[in-house]
Amino acid sequence: MLIVQKFGGSSVANADKIQKAAQRIVDTYKNGHKVIVVLSAQGDTTDDLIAKAKEINPEPSKRELDMLMATGEQQSCALMAMAIHRLGFPAISLNAVQVGISAFPQYGNARISRMKCDRIYSELERNSIVIVTGFQGINQYGDISTLGRGGSDTTAVAIAAEMQADLCEIYTDVDGVYTADPRMVKNAKKLKEISYDEMLELASLGAVVLHNRSVELAKKYNVRLVVRSSITDAEGTVVKEESQMESTYISGIALDRETAQITLIGMKDDPGMAFKIFSFMAKNKISVDIIIQSIGRQSVKDISFTVSTENLADTINLLEKNKDFIGYSHIMHDANQAKLSVVGAGMATNPGVAAAMFEALSDANISINMISTSEIKISVLIDERDAEQAVRYVHNRFFEQGVEF
Ligand code: ASP
Ligand code: MG
Repeated sequence: MLIVQKFGGSSVANADKIQKAAQRIVDTYKNGHKVIVVLSAQGDTTDDLIAKAKEINPEPSKRELDMLMATGEQQSCALMAMAIHRLGFPAISLNAVQVGISAFPQYGNARISRMKCDRIYSELERNSIVIVTGFQGINQYGDISTLGRGGSDTTAVAIAAEMQADLCEIYTDVDGVYTADPRMVKNAKKLKEISYDEMLELASLGAVVLHNRSVELAKKYNVRLVVRSSITDAEGTVVKEESQMESTYISGIALDRETAQITLIGMKDDPGMAFKIFSFMAKNKISVDIIIQSIGRQSVKDISFTVSTENLADTINLLEKNKDFIGYSHIMHDANQAKLSVVGAGMATNPGVAAAMFEALSDANISINMISTSEIKISVLIDERDAEQAVRYVHNRFFEQGVEF
């Protein structure tokens, strides 16, 4: 089989962990498989590099920041090759330039556009274990650009897709995907399997196990993904096309604390207002999430929406600069919001799910600021200080009380 094994930063954080991961890689190789390894930077390296940059210049150029950040992955890959050599097996590390991973130009948030795998093929032909830097691509100017935080998962899946690997294993410090963050909810349960769509929702909604774009890619190219622990041999969670739904309506609960709410008060109640605002946002590549619009009264209305906290300052700036053009009286914003979501493929046909979620929040005495729903998820915006309690109550309602609909 051709297997891609990706190890996250915590799984290669120090020499000991690198040796352990190397052993796992070699065991797979010894079983007769061809192995491609994709690595993140060690531990907090990426954060440390960013801090270092900011020490020198609080607003570093995005190009140079990518140049710097990309060194983290290169370190872990070279070290891993050395660890495998020490075990007596052939291995070679390659960065994005050497492999030929092309990306669209946006520094800091590049998207993989093309993947050349000739070099990987030829190294595999030589029976080498091939170790590839995650998180990087080469843009049209020939510059290194990074894929966004957590992007190594996406590199791994892209390689697995391009090379039609039989399996893509994501090794991390948790042993799978849980019904809720186990650090917050003691009784969270590990899922045996989950569908791409559900995983995509969970990943986009703040469950940090997988980079959401990696799940998108896996779905598009039907890559079989397994999330598992780099420390134990526990089975992990399989992410695949159709999950056996059995009797579960809900597969998990996600919390995104990095959510900010913005409200434009006193907008003209004219057609095209929403278009004006959101096309500005799109042009500036800021994604908007939950949107609500009040009912017009005396020819004015309010529009409220959420963005991720890191985009709050830019968004406010943008809206203020274009105040006259958009036409509103003032802006309100709140960075201390959190988005709590329940996700499950089985809820599409079941109105009881929303009611159960709202009931749990009401039991916890937590008020809801915004609501949004899709086929397989319900999200609510709540105050960040209520977030953990909300997760526990909602988890209890769905997974511990054994709800019947
Ligand atoms: N090292 C990068 C980060 O910390 C990429 C990754 O870990 O996936 O975001
Ligand atoms: Mg990660």
